[in-house]
Amino acid sequence: MGKEQLSGLSAEELFTRDGGITYDDFTILDTIFTDIDKENINLETILGKGISLKTPIIAAPMDTVTNAALCIALALEGGIGCIHYNFKKAGGVTPDIDAQIKEIKSVKRFENGFIENPVTVSPDYTIAQAIEIGEKNKVGGSPIDTFPVTYGGRPHGRLLGLLRKQDYSRSKHTSLKVRVRMLPLEKLIMAECPVTLEEANEKLWDAHLLFLPIVDKKMILKYLVTRSDIDKNEEYPLATKDEKKRLRVLFAVETRPELAYERLEKGFVAGADGCIIDTSQGYTKYEVGMIKYVLGKYKDKLVIGGNISTKEAYNELDKLGLHAYRCGQGSGSICTTAGAIGISRAGATGVYECAKQNGNMKTIADGGLKQVGDIKKALVSGADCVMLGNMLAGTEESPGKTKIDPESGLPIKEYRGMGSKEANVGEKIRGYSKLPQGVSGNVKYKGSIHQWIPLIRDGLISAFHVLNCRNINELHEKMYSGQIRFERKTIGSIEESGVHDLKI
Ligand code: 5GP
Repeated sequence: MGKEQLSGLSAEELFTRDGGITYDDFTILDTIFTDIDKENINLETILGKGISLKTPIIAAPMDTVTNAALCIALALEGGIGCIHYNFKKAGGVTPDIDAQIKEIKSVKRFENGFIENPVTVSPDYTIAQAIEIGEKNKVGGSPIDTFPVTYGGRPHGRLLGLLRKQDYSRSKHTSLKVRVRMLPLEKLIMAECPVTLEEANEKLWDAHLLFLPIVDKKMILKYLVTRSDIDKNEEYPLATKDEKKRLRVLFAVETRPELAYERLEKGFVAGADGCIIDTSQGYTKYEVGMIKYVLGKYKDKLVIGGNISTKEAYNELDKLGLHAYRCGQGSGSICTTAGAIGISRAGATGVYECAKQNGNMKTIADGGLKQVGDIKKALVSGADCVMLGNMLAGTEESPGKTKIDPESGLPIKEYRGMGSKEANVGEKIRGYSKLPQGVSGNVKYKGSIHQWIPLIRDGLISAFHVLNCRNINELHEKMYSGQIRFERKTIGSIEESGVHDLKI
């Protein structure tokens, strides 16, 4: 008797038989005996330049998805966010580069072991001025309420005191000077450089403090260490951090040099860990020119290109030494490119074909992922991680207000394509043509990232368990070797695998 035929199809058969395949068009079969435990499953993915994600999720650079608050929450849960670049100056017409940079700074400042640039005030400011400065410098969406007081209010000036939340009333003391309410130097506990983070932490605990200023021999303020950072460290073991224990963050730049060069310089000075060159058609001279520029100038930073969806484009970008690319064209939930210009590719087919090339770039499956199972399908098609727009829009941390849907009475939030008419008021972004390539709508409110991402992780771990894979590498090996088996979905099977015959 010959070798027994395995159930279903191999990935090669699935993706090359006929037509483009979306995540809805196939399912993965349970053909592998599970003998590993869930505790041994590791979802970590390596992006390059020392950046790895314990949760293989990147938040899309979109103005209804990714600002500092979402980046912070997602990085704490092991993913990473990419700050969009659709910030406009008052009047809403011209791009506001500094507003984007402010978001980057807010993320980098969030969980510093050592806060390198604490927001400081002068003793001569009024409490009202200090409150205003705190409002302008939010951390994780909340205004700063504790400030080192320095000579002239300089960020690294001579330390004169500490103004803490408990030192002033937001109603009674607004007209008083900071020097009247601050904890003066003689009562202040601080530490002198050099000091390790562990030593600083111990001092905080020993003295029952929430904030510890670190000064040099001349009493010049160097850093601030906070107790809440330590608590956060303990609470979020998956957090995506840099070597200084700051959360990692990416930012998006356009392919137009006149804006992108300034953005790149300011974004990297602000501490961003990498950038995404953000264009819907990445197989162009504009994209290639910008990739060469960034790789040549910012050698220690992660550079992500795209979007592409064919092997021809993959091989062109791979030649440049790009670290990672976004794979997906016309598949996003808010995207109308396929209808507008007739160019697109079915999501899973694009990922499979590009990832299979023998290159060095990491594959980020981007667009069209609607549920946890789709993330699993993207990874099993060859992706190293996924980029999410829709699945992260409508979370507590995404920009915009929660509204009530008049029809269902349920909470919703706005979600719009970056090529939509609504997102392109004033100067156009992302090189879209005059014909909109995206739409604007609403998505269901999803609650906090801190509840949502653990659920996604749980679903992914279950899926890895069923396929007996301990990590993404094993998943890819078993897919390419034909051990993981697939089945095309029929209309009947799509209906059968959804909820059916139930009134909800
Ligand atoms: P989603 O997760 O909502 O399915 O897709 C998000 C992705 O859609 C983004 O990461 C980006 O690649 C793409 N995208 C965002 N806005 C637009 C748009 O207006 N038009 C097109 N064609 N793609 C968009």
